[in-house]
Amino acid sequence: MIYLNEFGRQWKIVESQVLAAVQRVGGSGRYILGPEVHEFEASLARSWGVAHAVGVGNGMDALEIALRCLGLEPGNKVLTTPFSAFATTLAILRAGGVPVFVDVDDNGNLDLDQARSVLTRDRSIRFLLPVHLYGHPLNLEKLAALKNDLDLLVVEDCAQAIGARHGGRVVGSVGQAAGTSFYPTKNFGALGDGGAFLTNDAQIATRAKSLRNYGQSSLYVHDEQGLNSRLDELQGAILREAIMPNLQHWTEIRRQIAHQYEAAIQNPKIRMLATDESAEPVWHLFPLFIIGCERDELREHLTKSDIQSGVHYPTIIPDQVIMQRTGAFEIAAEPANARRLGSSELSLPIHPFLTKDEVAAILQACNTFQA
Ligand SMILES: *Cc1c(COP(=O)(O)O)cnc(C)c1O
Repeated sequence: MIYLNEFGRQWKIVESQVLAAVQRVGGSGRYILGPEVHEFEASLARSWGVAHAVGVGNGMDALEIALRCLGLEPGNKVLTTPFSAFATTLAILRAGGVPVFVDVDDNGNLDLDQARSVLTRDRSIRFLLPVHLYGHPLNLEKLAALKNDLDLLVVEDCAQAIGARHGGRVVGSVGQAAGTSFYPTKNFGALGDGGAFLTNDAQIATRAKSLRNYGQSSLYVHDEQGLNSRLDELQGAILREAIMPNLQHWTEIRRQIAHQYEAAIQNPKIRMLATDESAEPVWHLFPLFIIGCERDELREHLTKSDIQSGVHYPTIIPDQVIMQRTGAFEIAAEPANARRLGSSELSLPIHPFLTKDEVAAILQACNTFQA
């Protein structure tokens, strides 16, 4: 079977560095908010190209903390995408915000033109939370113009897009803050949960450090209602020592596989992402959009060829049970495109441990598919 992820193969590559990191942290006797997290934060900020990184418990908390750092008060509206991991919207809800949904473009990313017209019409929406879905960057020039023209507070969800660029600019550097995830399946995955908050603003970074640690500004001084959301020393050490040195190479391999898929998949029933030449995606996922037949027909065809596939995402966020039950959101533009993509998307394996033969088998299966 060709799987969507191959943690066993990854382990063989990182094992000795992980064990060294575990030994060092174990022997240090310092397990929470010590030198490892500190050094990891410095390395992450440096390699990302932002001034400050703050290690937190997971990607969702990074987004909640980011919204709160930018001053979100309960009841404030946040314009966001209906087509993402549910955690994007859950972060808004947990921060007390009200998600306002618009539609997505044909790549599944927030429709920035539609966002502009909604935000221009309703100036009570001051927050924007876009997602660089599938590792494919939004047009950052357009995002920056939108932020500046309407004086918005922007949090970028970079959970799937670590290292992606558009027009030479890195994702996460346009908004006042950004969040990312080290969930194991992500491009930069820990051996457990983890996440980071990113910003160029020193004051915002200080507030994030307080919020992740019970809202403490200094020992036993609690200025606000914080979270307990700290990156472990162990995960910080593992990420910096065992995973980070491989990240660029692994991203390169993802890109090579994506190029092979793009060049060799030729099937009128299959559409792929449209990449403009300014975009440098990192291919967290490789989505196919099925045309003129059911997604499950391709899914079954792949399964018969021993190829696992994924669906990202079957249900758009406003249609989720909890959203329907509480109704605590607004629809500013009907998410018809999101719904269509949600019912036609199928993700191929694109992890960096695929063999040549596996890639060839995937290409063969896609090209022999007939509905
Ligand atoms: C994974 C993911 C998150 C949440 O990250 P966790 O670390 O699982 O909390 C948020 N947004 C997107 C787009 C994601 O893919």
